[in-house]
Amino acid sequence: MGSYFQSVAFPTVTAAEAKDLASKLLEGLVARGILLGAENPDELAPGYPPGPRAHELTEPGFEHTRELLANGVVFETERNVFHAGGNGLELTCRACGLEHSPDSAIGDLVQQWFDGDDDVLLTCRFCGHRERLVAWDGPWPWAFGHLGVTFLGWPRLRPELVRIMEGLVGHPARVVLGTV
Ligand SMILES: [Zn+2]
Repeated sequence: MGSYFQSVAFPTVTAAEAKDLASKLLEGLVARGILLGAENPDELAPGYPPGPRAHELTEPGFEHTRELLANGVVFETERNVFHAGGNGLELTCRACGLEHSPDSAIGDLVQQWFDGDDDVLLTCRFCGHRERLVAWDGPWPWAFGHLGVTFLGWPRLRPELVRIMEGLVGHPARVVLGTV
C-alpha cells in the first residue's frame, strides 16, 4: 500500500488573508490537542505532528499513523493546486450530471489558474457546459486556493474536524483525498 494524504483547502480565502487565517487555524487545532504547536524540523517528516487528541476526530486506525515517520500536517499559504496524486481527477458536471476525468488539456488550464487566471473555464466533454475550473466538484475533486492543509498518513478525517476547521477559518472547506 502506498502512502496517502488528505488536503483540506479553503478555496474562497484570498491571498491577502491566507497567512493570518492559517495562524488562526493552527492555534485552534493546537488548543484542541489535534496538532502539536512546533513544526517537525525533519525534512522527511514535514509539518506539525499530531496532538494527543487527534485520534478522536478521525476514523479508527490512528495508532498506525502515530508510528509513521511522515504523519504531520503541512500548511500551504501560497497559491496552490491541491491535487489528489495517484487518485487522479474525476468530476461531475453540474449541468448534465455525468462524471468525467478531464483529458490532457487539463494541464494547461491548471497552469493558467496557477499563473493567476481565477476565471479559467473547464468544458464538460459530454454536454459542453462551461464552468470555472475552481468550481468543479465530483467523486475525486481537486481544490485550488491560497490556503489549505495536508494531513500525511492520517485515517479519514471525521466531518466534525472539517467543521471545526471551517469554523476557525470562517470559509467553507473542500476535502481532497490523495495517494502518492
Ligand atoms: Zn455536462
